[in-house]
Amino acid sequence: MAAYRRFRDVCRFGPVTVGTYHNGRGQPRHTAACTAPGCGFSTEHRDRSAAELAARTHRCNA
Ligand SMILES: [Zn+2]
Repeated sequence: MAAYRRFRDVCRFGPVTVGTYHNGRGQPRHTAACTAPGCGFSTEHRDRSAAELAARTHRCNA
């Protein structure tokens, strides 16, 4: 994830990292991305709570 260092308020739920960033138009976006090799799970949300929910409920197949 090349833009990782632009993320703020990063926290982890198991293998999933949740981070907040700005998409370049002043709009915050919240991403939940699994860091397990080969998983590829990644979601984007307008709400932080939605991103955290996605991270918490992710069941990793990797
Ligand atoms: Zn996963």
